[in-house]
Amino acid sequence: MTAPQIDSIDSLAEGLSGYLEKQQINQVRRAYYYAEQAHEGQLRRSGERYITHPLQVAEILSRMHMDHQSLMAAMLHDVIEDTGITKTAVKTQFGNTVAEMVDGVSKLSRIKFRSQAEAQAENFQKMAMAMSRDLRVIMVKLADRLHNMRTIRALPPDKRRRKARETLEIYAPIANRLGMNEMRIEFEELSFEAMYPLRFRRIGAAVRKVRGNRKEVVTKIQTSLEACLEREGLPGRTIGREKHLYSIYDKMRSKRKSFAEIMDVYAFRIIVDRVDTCYRVLGAVHSLYKPVPGRFKDYIAIPKANGYQALHTTLFGMHGLPIEIQIRTEEMEAMANNGIAAHWLYKSSEDLPSNAHVRAREWVNGLLEMQQSAGNSLEFIEHVKIDLFPDEIYVFTPKGEIFELPVGSTPVDFAYAIHTDVGSTCVACRIERRLAPLSEPLESGQTVEILTAPGHKPNPAWLSFVVTAKARTSIRHFLKNQKQSESTALGRRLLTKALASFGTSLDKLSREAVSTLLEQLRLDSLNRLFGEIGLGNRMSHLMAQRLIDLNENPTGAELKGDLLVRDAQSSVMNYARCCCPIPGDRIIGYISAERGLVIHTDDCNNVADLRANPEKWVEVNWDPEIQGEFSVEVRVELEHQRGIIAVLATAITGAEANIEKISTAERDAHFSMVNLLINVRNRVHLARVMRKIRMIKAVTRVTRVKSRKVRKPSGRTEATTIH
Ligand code: MN
Repeated sequence: MTAPQIDSIDSLAEGLSGYLEKQQINQVRRAYYYAEQAHEGQLRRSGERYITHPLQVAEILSRMHMDHQSLMAAMLHDVIEDTGITKTAVKTQFGNTVAEMVDGVSKLSRIKFRSQAEAQAENFQKMAMAMSRDLRVIMVKLADRLHNMRTIRALPPDKRRRKARETLEIYAPIANRLGMNEMRIEFEELSFEAMYPLRFRRIGAAVRKVRGNRKEVVTKIQTSLEACLEREGLPGRTIGREKHLYSIYDKMRSKRKSFAEIMDVYAFRIIVDRVDTCYRVLGAVHSLYKPVPGRFKDYIAIPKANGYQALHTTLFGMHGLPIEIQIRTEEMEAMANNGIAAHWLYKSSEDLPSNAHVRAREWVNGLLEMQQSAGNSLEFIEHVKIDLFPDEIYVFTPKGEIFELPVGSTPVDFAYAIHTDVGSTCVACRIERRLAPLSEPLESGQTVEILTAPGHKPNPAWLSFVVTAKARTSIRHFLKNQKQSESTALGRRLLTKALASFGTSLDKLSREAVSTLLEQLRLDSLNRLFGEIGLGNRMSHLMAQRLIDLNENPTGAELKGDLLVRDAQSSVMNYARCCCPIPGDRIIGYISAERGLVIHTDDCNNVADLRANPEKWVEVNWDPEIQGEFSVEVRVELEHQRGIIAVLATAITGAEANIEKISTAERDAHFSMVNLLINVRNRVHLARVMRKIRMIKAVTRVTRVKSRKVRKPSGRTEATTIH
């Protein structure tokens, strides 16, 4: 798509006069002048005046016939972000709606992220949120990104690649989901070029080269198609389609097809006046050339999730050349190109319902629903990504209701699609009346019956095969709740028991004591405390002790915090040899008669064994300032090689760690296991050392040894340490 450069507000206004009122155009002008003044002195990376950017963004939107408020928001979209003008100021000048839109776009741009993956996830959520409030916000954001992609050359290469990848992963799918095909294609082409300039150029050159050879064939087919329509008295126009470069590249990569194979296909689109003409044209072309079995798709009867409608078929042309044909009406064509934007573009024509708009809204609502049950944003985007790519299958209920599911969906996915309750209570299924496993991937056109049993619960194993976000989220949600309620009940029992051993109970304690403890532990409810105890994160005995202290002495007890571990060496403190705790590990202290306080890692096996003596445990934490060296045991599995131990030792000392002890055990003729006792400063340091070791070619596995078996000194019950 080549957009002629609009270089002034006057030329934009001229274009607007085609579909906006004079007074509306004046408001757009006003927004332009306001932004121009606000951005005065600022330059784009390209060296142009900054105002050229909002002007172009508005221009992109005007081509979609977006309303005057969207254009005003486009003019002002960077004003809050880049010039320090407040939302209130924009509101006073241009009204609440425009101010809200500008604010929405600014918010989308403002989010700062820790990692790229998270960035995209967060971005997505924010977008979904913004969209559900005012879809025009997302349109402005998409136009903003489109102009930034058109001018991406001005950025340094690494930034260029990052932006391009983000565009490909986030913005192109959104455009696609909203049915805005033209914008999606431009996003893909620009991103592809920015990410892989060489591949882009090479494929481009190859396409130009074969285009000459193809021309004759294309004309021949087109003429025969047109003649056929003419003969049958079917009005319509036929256009030859060319695949865009990214889609060629993507096909080569994902379907492992050669360039020649892809280019061997000839694609046409026939656009007609009415829906029933589509089917008649289909009949006509099927009698002209033989159709390829199994390739006919009726997206008119069952539109794609983004609202796309057309008939697709493939024909055997002369000499067996495959010919792909799309047949649709003018309206469907407009929808296919502009999607949701067609809603604005064709607002005046009554017969085009805002179908895309409605569908987009449904999609957004679906996203928000998922987001509420999936807390973690990465988990969220993983779901969304799956849902975004429109490889759908259609399956039927026994009553003939159609459900649309992603490729690879199983009966469990189907059950959840019907209703969460059907999903969670499903026990078996019939596919085409035959009993089938719940994990069997479904295929388009199948009729699936789900058998449920009241009171049945979701099976964790389902997580290994379900593919829809809804099923996955619902199952996880259920499991999480179940785990929570179990641990809460267990924690309550443990705390009650501990309090009973002190001769008291929860209802004998003051409410203040309980709430103070919760505050100290930063927990928001007593149930959360039970949960923490039940999960083993807190010791019931210690919690009981603290509650009793707080009950007797509400003010004094506040001073008592956790014990801090400050030194690597100390006469009263010892580090357990079974689990070798190092700073960064979650730890717990055990009071031993002979050894003083012994520090274990929270997950040490011996700790679990010794929980029976709760009064001997104390809560401890690392002093954040702790210094010194700590012993830790690491196991390395490696292939035999001459001098490998020396290589290993060099790697470890190279990462500034000392080796205390090395022992080797042969596993078989090829592999050895080396146990190392090394000194490190903390977990981060250990991670660095392990990374260094892993980089050695001969090394197959590196693990930290925790909870190793410690022989108990005979005749004694205390088994936490060896000497
Ligand atoms: Mn911008």
